[in-house]
This record gives sequence, structure tokens and C-alpha cells, in this order.
Amino acid sequence: MALACSLAHLPLTKHLKVAIIDSNPALGKRNCINKEDPPDPRVSTVTPATISFFKDIGAWQYIQQHRHAYFDKMQVWDYTGLGYTRYNARDVNKEVLGCVVENKVLHSSLLSCIEFTSDIHLGAYKLDWCNAADSDVDDTFINTDFRKTIYPSKVTSMALLPSSSSMGVDSTLSTTALFTKGRLAKLELSDGKSLYAKLVVGADGGKSRVRELAGFKTTGWSYSQNAVICTVEHTEENRCAWQRFLPAGPIALLPIGDRFSNIVWTMNPKESSDCKTMNEDEFVKTVNHALDYGYGSHPKSSSSGGRDMFSWLRGDVAISADECFEVPPKVIKLASDRMVFPLSLKHANDYVSKRVVLIGDAAHTVHPLAGQGVNLGFEDSHALSRVIAEGVAVGSDIGEVSLLRKYEAERKPANIAMMALLEVFQRAYSVDFGPLNILRAAAFNGAHYISPLKKSIISYASGEKKMPLPLPFFS
Ligand SMILES: Cc1cc2nc3c(=O)[nH]c(=O)nc-3n(C[C@H](O)[C@H](O)[C@H](O)COP(=O)(O)OP(=O)(O)OC[C@H]3O[C@@H](n4cnc5c(N)ncnc54)[C@H](O)[C@@H]3O)c2cc1C
Repeated sequence: MALACSLAHLPLTKHLKVAIIDSNPALGKRNCINKEDPPDPRVSTVTPATISFFKDIGAWQYIQQHRHAYFDKMQVWDYTGLGYTRYNARDVNKEVLGCVVENKVLHSSLLSCIEFTSDIHLGAYKLDWCNAADSDVDDTFINTDFRKTIYPSKVTSMALLPSSSSMGVDSTLSTTALFTKGRLAKLELSDGKSLYAKLVVGADGGKSRVRELAGFKTTGWSYSQNAVICTVEHTEENRCAWQRFLPAGPIALLPIGDRFSNIVWTMNPKESSDCKTMNEDEFVKTVNHALDYGYGSHPKSSSSGGRDMFSWLRGDVAISADECFEVPPKVIKLASDRMVFPLSLKHANDYVSKRVVLIGDAAHTVHPLAGQGVNLGFEDSHALSRVIAEGVAVGSDIGEVSLLRKYEAERKPANIAMMALLEVFQRAYSVDFGPLNILRAAAFNGAHYISPLKKSIISYASGEKKMPLPLPFFS
């Protein structure tokens, strides 16, 4: 949907016909989101880069009509009590580090964006539109050239014939003739319909059927870890993103607005089934234990020691270097069901082939410990829409591999770099070993006190800087 919105927004691609195929009920029957509704336990932390992409394509205005929570502070620490890091948006002269948005709000906002930026067609049933009044909508983005059809269905098979000739093709040829000449891919849907397209974008998640049908190989593994997620309530509003590394994995407490926060807690499968089934009071107690003194003491807030130790590397002092360790707000109540997700890493060896391209989790599935997954997918959408526009500008066939390789060349190294970094974190924090604990403590203190390092980490995690290295003091 983000790719469709981006294409609708670009002058060179707004005339394209786009079919969105997805049997996800969130797409076919849009839920009306009421402020009083309980929060969706599935949330995403979106980076400043994603926020500016959403603003560019006209989708952020719809997010703003629903519950969302900007945060400008973050605290990361581990159970050994040897160190902690606090980040503040003002360290990099920004107002926010990110925003937590419920997935149902992301879906509904992109759908609203599609509704208001295009002339929408419905493949099967009428959408239940119930969002903003027209007067609330910024009409800069309204564009009726762009035709989109939503098919609430599944892709079951895909066929593509080899190109018969490299010469130009008569544009008056029928769809079937173009398919026969290898100029279109053919998709079969679970409702019996067939569709033909110059380009098939596999945006169908970690178990991508498009990836499988196109024969892309993947590299990856399962973490033998599950994430338990849920919404919890506090007595007052939480405005900071918290993450504590525990022996079995990290627990994150993310603000989602009002007095709610979202928990993403990684643990082994046995612990996750215990956490899902224990009674609510027991679960709340377990969460508070995990976010406070459980497994080990609080790190000491050092007003000068750490700073002095790193003074030779420090340069200017980051604002947050003076911030003391804080205990996260107490959870008083469970406010949603608990859901459990198995975690894995998967990367497609190729992102493109003739008439097929992968974006989002279909191309790369990462550990959620840094909340980067969906942001990488939005960056893919942004990059692919620009490459498609480039192709349209010079009259290329948008399904040609030579064009699509430009997208792959931009996104693959960026995604691999992020995956590698997340893997280092995931491994470094999954071992309880004395010397390694001390090294981790040094890393926490370094990230807390060394200003250039802190700024590099924030810029990279915000999606503003492409590679974390070379860092200024390593170069
Ligand atoms: C516990 C957890 C917490 C996370 N937290 C964060 C976070 O804070 N920030 C962040 O950036 N990321 C986070 N992520 C990662 C994020 O959820 C994913 O990266 C993101 O959902 C991927 O989006 P996607 O659109 O590529 O795939 P998906 O969200 O998996 O969507 C794929 C879509 O394809 C459809 N589909 C599947 N098969 C077919 C088919 N054959 N035909 C048609 N349609 C099909 C599905 O119905 C679905 O709607 C988290 C992940 C987990 C597990």
C-alpha cells in the first residue's frame, strides 16, 4: 500500500494501473477506528525517515487523526546492572526519535491515502470507508489519474513466458498476445480471477508466495525465540521507549499514547507459552519484575565517572550524557490479549528477476529488537517507486531486470548492513558470560558518553544515515 501511495504521488507514475492483492481483512473491510477502541496489540515503531516518507506521499495526515505516540527519549540497559544508555532527540537537534503507531492505524491511514489520492476500483466488494471528513484532507495529494483496484484474494500461481524478441512490441496487441511474447506476467488468484501485469511486486511478507513462485532462494534461520506482545496500561502517560536486555532476550516497553504502552518481549518458546497462559495479575507482576529489579540490580547513574573515562573520545557532550538511569513506569493492567510470534531471520538472495521484485519482509525478515523491520520495507517502497519513475521517464519496460537491478543495488547493501548489525546485537545479548558482560557494559557506557558514537547510532536507527560505519572516531 505504501508503494501504491508513493507511485500515486510521483508525477511520472501516477497514471499507472495498480492492483493490490491481499486477503487480509484489514484491506477489504476497513475498520472504523474509534478513539475509545482498545489499542491494537500489534504496533510498529516508525523512524523519522518513515515519517518523512509518509508526509511526502500524503499518508501522515491520516496517522495524525488517530492514536500515535512520538517519543523523544529512549533508555537501553541490561540485567547485569553494569551500564545503561539514554538517548535524547536533542542529541541530534531533532524533536523526536520516532513514533509508535498501531498497525491497524498504519493500514487504515495508507488505505485512506489510497482512497483520496486515486480513483479506486474494487475487485470484489465495497470497502467500508468511514474515515476523515473530506474537509480534513489536504487536497494537494488528490489525484484521480491513478487507478487502483483492490483484490481481497490470494495469489496462488504466477506464470511468465520468455520474451520472444527484444524489438519493440505493438501496443495494440491483446493482453494474451503480450503474455505470450513474455511482456506480461500472469497471476492466478484464489477466487479464480486472472491478472496480467508488467511487474509483480512481492510485498507478501516473510512467507512470501511470490518469492517462492519466482524461485528466489533465501538464506536464514529460526532464532528459537518467540516474541510475546500485548498492550498494557499505566497510571500515567509513558513518553519514553524502554528496552532492557534479559538473559533470554530483550523486553521493550513502547509508549502508544494515552496511558497505554506496548510490550515486545523476546524469550524462549517454553517461557513464552507460560507468559501467554499465566493469569493476568501474575503476568503484570512478571512484566514489572522484568522491567525493574528482576534478574539484577539497576545500573548506577554516574554523574562524572563514565564521562571522564571516555573524555578523550568524546568531542562535544551529548545532552543525554547527563541523564540519570530511570525506572520505567509501573504496569498496572493488561489491556489486550497476549500474542506470540516465532522469530526468524530470512534474506532473499536476489530481490529481482524479470517482471518480479520483492520488497519488505518478502525480501528480508529481521529480529524485532530494534524495531526496524517495517521501516526497511518502507525504504524499499520509496526506492522502488523512484526506480519505476526513472524507467517511465526514459520509456523503459518497468519489468526489465536491468531497470529493477537499480532498486536491488540501492536496497540490498542497506538491508544487509542493518541485518548484520541486528545480528551482532542479538548474539551479543544472548550470552551470559562474565567477560562479555563487561564488554557489553563498556558498549553501553560508550554509547552513553561518547557523543559522536551516540549521534551516529541515533542517525542510523532513525533511517537518516545509511551505514553505521565508518564512525568518526574509527576512521
Ligand atoms: C513481535 C514483532 C514486533 C515488531 N515490531 C516492529 C517495530 O516496532 N517496528 C518495525 O519497523 N517493525 C517491527 N516488526 C516487523 C514488522 O512487523 C514487519 O517487518 C512488517 O510487518 C513487514 O511488512 P510487510 O508488509 O513486508 O509484510 P507483512 O506485514 O507480513 O504483510 C504481508 C501481507 O501479505 C499478505 N499475503 C501473504 N500471502 C499472500 C498471498 N499469497 N497473496 C496475497 N497476499 C498475501 C498478508 O495477508 C499480509 O497482509 C515487528 C515484528 C514482530 C514479529
